[in-house]
Amino acid sequence: MNQTFIKVFCTFLLGTIPHMADYLNEFVYASLPRALLDNMTHVAIGVVSWIVVEPSSIKVQRPSRSLIAVAVLSSLIDIDHFIAARSIHLKNALRAPYRGIFHCSGAMLVVNVIMFCLNFHWGVVFLVSWVPHHLRDAVRRGIFLLPPQMSTDPLPNIVVTLLTMTLPWVVSLVQGKMSPLNQPIRNVFDV
Ligand SMILES: [Zn+2]
Repeated sequence: MNQTFIKVFCTFLLGTIPHMADYLNEFVYASLPRALLDNMTHVAIGVVSWIVVEPSSIKVQRPSRSLIAVAVLSSLIDIDHFIAARSIHLKNALRAPYRGIFHCSGAMLVVNVIMFCLNFHWGVVFLVSWVPHHLRDAVRRGIFLLPPQMSTDPLPNIVVTLLTMTLPWVVSLVQGKMSPLNQPIRNVFDV
């Protein structure tokens, strides 16, 4: 399938998935299904964002390791609700008094810079896992900038939607420009 078509279609999905999830959420009352729906929405947004970055990663028989990593990391971020609540029970996690470190954009940015220095590609994978997650959460609670609780006001839905749709295109562009710089050194001498 044409890669440009895949990227454009997935960008359309990025604009619609959050709103479909919010709509569905209105019909779900129990805590567990609501939490699962919310977490799976983060996974879907992360995965679709990664497909925009690397459309070739959706080979049906063997999805790329990067795609799987984005799916897992997008979901695991929410584990810090349990850490913040110091409890394994969902009802306590939902009432955690503060947001955990995985939801702190400043802390994640520092980790991301280190990852970029260690391995650019996995730094990109990490970025696509947490930034869309934080953006979606920011509609309700703002961006958690720095500990202990320095946060912005909640962001308007339209701003979050536009940023979520734009981010993977920017990442794809930067990754394309940076990839020649990240070739193994031996390639330079392989002339
Ligand atoms: Zn979250």
